[in-house]
Amino acid sequence: MNSEFELIREYFDRPARNAALGVGDDAALLRPAAGMELAVSTDMLIEGRHFRAGAAPRALGHKALAVNLSDLAAMGAAPRWATLAISLPAADRNWLAGFAEGFFALAGRFGVDLVGGDTTRGPLSLCITILGEVPTGQALRRDGARAGDDIWVSGELGGAALGLARPGVAAAAKRLDEPEPRVELGQRLRGLASAAIDVSDGFAQDLGHILERSGAGAVVQYERLPKFRIDDAELEKQCVLSGGDDYEIVFTAAQDRRSAIETLAKELGLALSRVGSIQEGDARLLLLDKNEKPLAAAPGFDHFRT
Ligand code: ADP
Ligand code: MG
Repeated sequence: MNSEFELIREYFDRPARNAALGVGDDAALLRPAAGMELAVSTDMLIEGRHFRAGAAPRALGHKALAVNLSDLAAMGAAPRWATLAISLPAADRNWLAGFAEGFFALAGRFGVDLVGGDTTRGPLSLCITILGEVPTGQALRRDGARAGDDIWVSGELGGAALGLARPGVAAAAKRLDEPEPRVELGQRLRGLASAAIDVSDGFAQDLGHILERSGAGAVVQYERLPKFRIDDAELEKQCVLSGGDDYEIVFTAAQDRRSAIETLAKELGLALSRVGSIQEGDARLLLLDKNEKPLAAAPGFDHFRT
């Protein structure tokens, strides 16, 4: 490969189906549909910080996009476009081909166009910006939870954290390396959920963001949380409450939406578990064990906590 431009052409320049102009000019041109708001989100993945050196390139291509898709899902937005800023130590063909394969396989499933980016030499790092559409005023925000609302969780919690603690457990490693963003769920929750967030830093911490933004508290029954099977009670608690990277959706909804949400779970073939309720008062999460006794939760992940 002779140049940066050849590299871009070979690995990242694909026809854009949703965009007026994609890769190749000074900027892409996008046309959101009438009546839609743009939802925009950025996530970085740095080698040694978010993934280990030598991580499989195909899985990285998947994960870098998946974590961004998950943010749009949590807003109830339909993903449409992405940009990719990538810094690479070398133009390694095998690595680039694997990365592009993982990235475009997931992008294709959700109809996302890669419309631009930037490519430089340097330590391996990936930064994706994703753009999507949501009908004006219908985005699922963190600040909409109200006292009396139910708290729901999609899928299972703790698998990704177990994948980190015990890399030998294949199903857990898959949850960590190739998370499935809940793109369809997010959009179907428009008009049903009062607030939503995706679980990137741990259930307790991420639900905490809804509580802070909404100015309300919560009670959650630990027994009801949907859990990845873990044969060690302490490790299970740690992974389920504080483990990040699951990319499930935590959402709140008025009680009169219960049957609509149960129907949605059947339609999507995705477990949606009702785990607690929003309370009047401070933004505090009260976790109860099966005897209704308070359970302490370790804090979730924070890059700058010392
Ligand atoms: P400029 O010098 O104007 O910043 P570049 O030479 O960086 O342009 O990029 C040329 C074109 O290729 C632009 O359209 C840019 O958006 C696109 N591009 C660069 N890197 C990537 C990438 N990793 N993925 C997708 N598109 C890229
Ligand atoms: Mg550039």
